[in-house]
Amino acid sequence: MRLSQFHLATVKEVPADAEIASHRLMLRTGMIRKLAAGLYTWSPLGLRVLRKVEAVVREEMDRAGAVELLMPTIQPKELWEESGRWGKFGPQLLKVKDRKEQEFCYAPTAEEVITDYARNELKSYKQLPVNFYQIQTKFRDEIRPRFGVMRAREFLMKDSYSFHLTQESLQQTYDAMYQAYSRIFTRLGLTFRAVQADTGAIGGNASHEFQVLADSGEDAIAFSDASEYAANIEKAEALAPTTARPAATAELRRVDTPTQKTIDDVVAFLKVSPQQCVKTILVRGTEGLVALCVRGDHEVNEVKAGKLEGMPGESVLATEEEILALTGTRPGFIGPVGLPAEIPVIVDRDAAVLADFVCGGNQDGTHYTGANWDRDARVTRVEDIRKVVEGDASPDGKGTLHMARGIEVGHVFQLGKKYAEALKATVLDENGKAQVMMMGCYGVGVSRIVAAAIEQRHDEAGIIWPEPMAPWRVVVCVINPKNAPEVAEAAESLYQQLAARGIDTALDDRGLRPGAMFADMELIGIPHRVVVSERGLAAGTLEYRARNEAEARAVTPDELFSLLS
Ligand code: ATP
Ligand code: MG
Ligand code: MG
Ligand code: MG
Repeated sequence: MRLSQFHLATVKEVPADAEIASHRLMLRTGMIRKLAAGLYTWSPLGLRVLRKVEAVVREEMDRAGAVELLMPTIQPKELWEESGRWGKFGPQLLKVKDRKEQEFCYAPTAEEVITDYARNELKSYKQLPVNFYQIQTKFRDEIRPRFGVMRAREFLMKDSYSFHLTQESLQQTYDAMYQAYSRIFTRLGLTFRAVQADTGAIGGNASHEFQVLADSGEDAIAFSDASEYAANIEKAEALAPTTARPAATAELRRVDTPTQKTIDDVVAFLKVSPQQCVKTILVRGTEGLVALCVRGDHEVNEVKAGKLEGMPGESVLATEEEILALTGTRPGFIGPVGLPAEIPVIVDRDAAVLADFVCGGNQDGTHYTGANWDRDARVTRVEDIRKVVEGDASPDGKGTLHMARGIEVGHVFQLGKKYAEALKATVLDENGKAQVMMMGCYGVGVSRIVAAAIEQRHDEAGIIWPEPMAPWRVVVCVINPKNAPEVAEAAESLYQQLAARGIDTALDDRGLRPGAMFADMELIGIPHRVVVSERGLAAGTLEYRARNEAEARAVTPDELFSLLS
């Protein structure tokens, strides 16, 4: 690629809301441009990186025996009603209507659509197991899109879904996906950990998240210093010894209000709350027990706060800061998605546990255990739970637990029969009897990986790409091409020779001054830089510098080729 013909648009200044390194660098390099909250255009430069990630993911999926297909991003409401998720998925689901007033949603995931496909396509156990995958845009109306493409609303996901007759077969594919994911993240040069994850409300038997380790990560993971044990915070907390904190029920009883209401009174009160709360949080703040009702739209700044004693009459509309002043705690908790209105959440900021909650059960009768919380709940909880889990004995009895922050880039999940049962997806077994299929689902955050890699690999000068993700492996920089045609020719010839060797190369023929050109190439993180100059030509050498090395050195063209082979 000749950069004079490319659209490279690096900038010096970035908006103040770009809080983390990857967001800032993706804007400075011009890889992405914001269209609206959580919506980004991938520039030609950004897209080159995204496509490289995609290629590695695709290769490893193919290697693991998955087969690629492509499903629509617009999905009919009827399918989501069949699975029972139309009402339950919560506000992340973007619903749209067509001209006939028929309802659809924009795919946040594709269990429904793939299960519908499978029930029509798969008739016999002989067609199993099969693992379908796609690399397709998803939309989730995240409550707080942030950090650029790290938590976007529209993003690119590789999602796959496997179908089986038996649990053993599901386990085999699950293990194969686990291996494939490990290969993907290793090839992409990421430092990551696979951690046990809660299967939560979806049910199912096994789940692992792949977490890229980074201090800016929104997730917290616990790992043992003496064994392979690693789990995300929800799972670790569930397994960790509870001696450090009172059990949830004991906690509830300890909440004595200025009016001496029992917790049953509180629950009864909340059930008839005229605010029609989707979630209700009780905070024992500096001024006694306060009820915060989070309205159904999940907007933080529409939290309603009022003293329990006076409610419903005295409720006030409060901002986050006002709630902080009133209760001494931030209303960071937004609540589990899609839960029925009667679930009160008890938060006691004096105890080690920030949030425990009672629930009468989910709409579909499943017991809700604490997984699937919205982002903000987790972010708030982590700091407090850290106190509980850090230093605890590892659940496997080996060593002590430590905490680290992570970015979830992949997730593998055994779904069991949940979707196949709801959508009646069956195949005939050996005896000609219809059997509901077992399913697994496996996601990779393709676009998030780009940001996660930058979080791990950057310095003051810019990005330091792992080679398989770099927009180009090599850049040939030409000094003063206009004044020295022989330099331009030599650079062109070197560029051709590298291309002929199959090396992905950019030719920086933009005619920039050396300082500006080098700064750009360091910023966009090209792993290998070669400078062609008059001086070098006279000496028969090129100036070579690796992005992760401090010094440049003179090399002959042959030395360069062997270095890059
Ligand atoms: P998170 O916990 O970060 O919200 P999730 O658990 O909701 O992610 P999954 O349903 O497991 O996400 O989706 C599979 C993968 O898609 C995730 O592991 C993550 O890498 C990616 N992903 C999910 N939400 C987003 C988002 N808003 N922006 C970018 N990537 C995302
Ligand atoms: Mg999510
Ligand atoms: Mg998650
Ligand atoms: Mg997940």
